[in-house]
Order: sequence, then C-alpha cells, then structure tokens
Amino acid sequence: MRKNIVAGNWKMNNDLAETQELISDLKKQMVKEPNATVMVAPTFTNLYEAFQSLKDTPVVVAAQNMHQNASGAYTGEISANMLKSVGVETVILGHSERRAYFNETNELLAEKVDAALENNMTIIFCFGEELEDRKAEKHFDLVASQLKESLYHLPKESWKNIILAYEPVWAIGTGETASPEQAQEMHAFVRKNVADKFGEEVAEDVSILYGGSVKPANAKEIFANKDVDGGLIGGASLKAADFLEIVNAF
Ligand code: PEP
Repeated sequence: MRKNIVAGNWKMNNDLAETQELISDLKKQMVKEPNATVMVAPTFTNLYEAFQSLKDTPVVVAAQNMHQNASGAYTGEISANMLKSVGVETVILGHSERRAYFNETNELLAEKVDAALENNMTIIFCFGEELEDRKAEKHFDLVASQLKESLYHLPKESWKNIILAYEPVWAIGTGETASPEQAQEMHAFVRKNVADKFGEEVAEDVSILYGGSVKPANAKEIFANKDVDGGLIGGASLKAADFLEIVNAF
C-alpha cells in the first residue's frame, strides 16, 4: 500500500540556530498522528542535529543530495555511508536545482540511485519538465526518459525504496502551480509508465509526490487527486505553521 508523504526541502536555508527553532516549532505544533508521513531535508551541516532532535518523533530526516562514490578524493562531497552514520536513511536525488546548477544528468543520477540503494537508503527521486518542454508538448516524453535513464535498470525489489516526486521546473519557487488536473494527468502517466515496465503491483505501491509552489491554500485540491500521494515542499516548508497546514491537508 502506498503512503501519503509530505516532505519539506529546506534547501540552502537555515543555520544551526534557525534549524533548531524550526524543529522546535514543528515539534510543538505537529499533531500526534498526522495522516501523512512527514519528512524534512535540512542542509548537510544540520542533519546530525535534526536527526537527534527528531528521533523520538515520527518525522523522517532526509538529505538533499549525496555523492555516488563511497569515499575518496571528492572534495566537498558526502557519501551514503556518512549520511547513515548520522542517522539519515533517506535522500532526495535529481532535484531540478541539482540538475540545472550542478550538471546532474540522468546517467549520473542512475549512479547515485545505485549507491543509495546499495546502502539500503530510501530515495525521493525528482523529475519534471521545463516550460519549453511543456509548450512543445514534449513533457510526457521528457519525464519518461528521466525515469527510464535513472531508474529503469533497477530490479523490481528496489522499488520499495523509491518515492517519486514530479516537480515541473516552471512551478518551483515561482508561485505558479500546476493545476490539479495537470498534476493528476502527469501522475497517472507516470504510474502507467512504471506499471508497463515493472507491473501493476509496483506501480500501485509507489508514492508519487507533487512539488512546485504547494502552499496551505492549494494543498488540499492537489492532494485530492487519486494519483497524487503527497508533496515535496520548498518555500512553504520553512514556516512550521504553513508546512503543518499542508501536512494536515490529508
Ligand atoms: C522544491 O524545491 O522542491 C519545491 C517544490 O519548491 P517550492 O515549493 O518553493 O516551489
């Protein structure tokens, strides 16, 4: 059975004190048993603190990225094992900002996916089209190739560790949201695409999150769609009250 998930991507925001404050607000304001699995992804330097402060709560702490190699001369990078050593077992891979600013390709992401799975981590795998792709009606093809080139080499069993996050690039941080119909249309396409390759059971079980300017005001109508299993939230995850209102939209 797939899960409803609301994950906050804090990006390069919040120093240690700000992270502590946000976590403390979340702990104070969160209902005991939310109807969705709640995840937060602080920066690398705050992962240890976040994990320690949240380990007695249902909130899952995720990293925003990791390197594909286990160790070595990769200055500035962090490995799966390092994340696991501070309690982090979930990682966001393929965010559009990593693809755009750090040249992460589908092929590189396939290597990162393999490294995360070798370490038995859970992956929130992001994908989505740019505005020009949508205008040229290439969005379905583009998404299909992102999935194929980074995930379709996996064995069926690996899919229990995969969460998908459809994030149309034109909707990220822009205030522009895909309409509930556009989100549902793409999520249904993705589920069918996964079913064609890995079978109905895998497709039915995989959670597909929507990301792109989700806010308290629009979360309910987006999450109401049958193939939308939650959200990956950027800007609105930086205020506990807004983020929790989105969590409570389930
Ligand atoms: C994101 O960066 O994953 C995201 C969805 O950002 P925002 O909610 O700010 O559009």
